Amino acid sequence: MKVTDHIKNANGKTMFSFELVPPRKGKNIQELYDNIDPLMEFDPPFIDVTTSREEVIYVDNGGGGLDKRTTRMRPGTVGICASIKHKYNVDTIPHVLCGGFTQEETEYMLVDCHYLGIDTIVALRGDATNAEKYFKPTEGGHAYASELVAQIAAMNQGKFLHQVVATEAKSDFCIGVAGYPEKHLEAPSIDADLRRLKDKVDAGADYVVTQMFFDNQRYFEFVEKAKAIGITVPIIPGIKPVAVKRHLQLLPQVFSLDMPDDLVKAVDACKTNAEVRQVGVEFAIQQSKELLEYGVPVLHYYSMGKSDNIKNIAAALF
Ligand code: FAD
Repeated sequence: MKVTDHIKNANGKTMFSFELVPPRKGKNIQELYDNIDPLMEFDPPFIDVTTSREEVIYVDNGGGGLDKRTTRMRPGTVGICASIKHKYNVDTIPHVLCGGFTQEETEYMLVDCHYLGIDTIVALRGDATNAEKYFKPTEGGHAYASELVAQIAAMNQGKFLHQVVATEAKSDFCIGVAGYPEKHLEAPSIDADLRRLKDKVDAGADYVVTQMFFDNQRYFEFVEKAKAIGITVPIIPGIKPVAVKRHLQLLPQVFSLDMPDDLVKAVDACKTNAEVRQVGVEFAIQQSKELLEYGVPVLHYYSMGKSDNIKNIAAALF
């Protein structure tokens, strides 16, 4: 079932969901299942699986030097979605990227999803590779997520690339996109970024999932501003519990966000990362309680591989 249908059917009750990162290639999928198992008792209607684009790595060439190679270290998003859907009987949502993929490759991935009964897709631009300073569109790919949304929406109308097929069985993908309560780091202003979000909705996006934030006020203001410019689709908050001390520098740097001072002080006072993890869980529970009261459709957690902290948060709320 589509995410928007899950939201409709919940009749205003907030649901629990989470996002997973595929294992690095060569790792066993069991690792992923071990992190999903403890979360299934909270009845997630859907689980997201991220996509990673290619990266530059250096491999030993056996002659004392290193050779530069380009590879995707975490492939398999659609396969993982299929395996989770099959094993747990839950809807799965692959993230689809502009960066690293041609429009053709995207079309093939969407065809696979359609055959597998995956009916929700999150459409994203992606970031620069580790070898680039700025995002550069892949040759034959899209420059912005709005263009990717338009490709998926066109496919829903039976329009494949090059108009080469007479469609008999149209897809009907529900399309999610990213939103940024503290603005995307490249955007010149929050209002400019919101207008870009509106472009994505106008192109066919059915719902928004936000980047992580720690100050709920930012989310509330974002939702109000979005409504004011005509964005009426559901806006699902994304929540990330702080897990290690380094997150105090890393998260603001990578995602261009502010952290409330009470959280910063509490993490600073921790002597071990186990203590930080506990502080992160307690903060996320309080943050989630306020969002529940506000009536958000879904509380969506970024699990980043290890689910014990997400389980502790969900146990206090659901
Ligand atoms: P866009 O909506 O294309 O926006 C990118 C920037 O361009 C913004 O600053 C926007 O304001 C600006 N912009 C948009 N349109 C135009 C235009 N026409 N002209 C000029 N400027 C424009 N990354 C991954 O690699 N894999 C994932 O699985 C993944 N999942 C994510 C899930 C969520 C919920 C979120 C919030 C992010 C995720 N990301 C993921 C990160 C995402 O790829 C990055 O944040 C990326 O930098 C922007 O993606 P976007 O889809 O928001 O891009």
